[in-house]
Amino acid sequence: MKTDKGCIFCKIIAGEIPAVKIWEDKEFMAMLDIHPASIHGGHVLIMPKEHFELITDVPDNVLKDMGIAIKKISGALLKYGEGLNVVQNNKKVAGQYVPHVHFHLIPRFENDGVRIEKWEVNNYNRGEMEKVASKIKKLMK
Ligand code: 5GP
Ligand code: ZN
Repeated sequence: MKTDKGCIFCKIIAGEIPAVKIWEDKEFMAMLDIHPASIHGGHVLIMPKEHFELITDVPDNVLKDMGIAIKKISGALLKYGEGLNVVQNNKKVAGQYVPHVHFHLIPRFENDGVRIEKWEVNNYNRGEMEKVASKIKKLMK
C-alpha cells in the first residue's frame, strides 16, 4: 500500500496523529474534519487508506467501493442535518490543501452560512457552449 511520509492524512491513518474517527474498514477511513464548515459540526472527511493525490489517481475498483462508503455515511448525515453537500477538491486552484484524495461530507442546516453552491453565475456567448462541450468530449477520448 502506497503511503506518503509527509502526508498528514497518511499520518492519521497510521495512528501517528490523533483523529476523531466515524467509521473505517480495510480500505477507507472517515473522520470529523477538524475545522467544520458550519457551527453545527458533523463535517466528515472520507478517504482511501492508500495515498492517492487526485480522484483520477484512484483505481476504478477502489473508487466504486468509496462511492458505497460515501452513501453509507451520507445516510447518517442526512439524518444528522437537514441536507448534505458532497464535495471533492482536486489541486490547489480548486481548494485542495491536503494532497491525499478525500471527499467532504457536509451536513447542511437552514441559514448555516456555508457557501458551496453560492458561486457567481456566468453566461456563455453564442456558440461557445457547443465549443466547450466538443473540447471536453475530445478530452474524454
Ligand atoms: P481540502 O481543502 O484539501 O479539500 O480539505 C482538507 C480538510 O482537511 C480541511 O477542511 C481541513 O480542515 C482538514 N484537516 C486538515 N488537517 C486536519 C487534521 O489534522 N485533522 C482533521 N481531522 N482534519 C484536518
Ligand atoms: Zn496520504
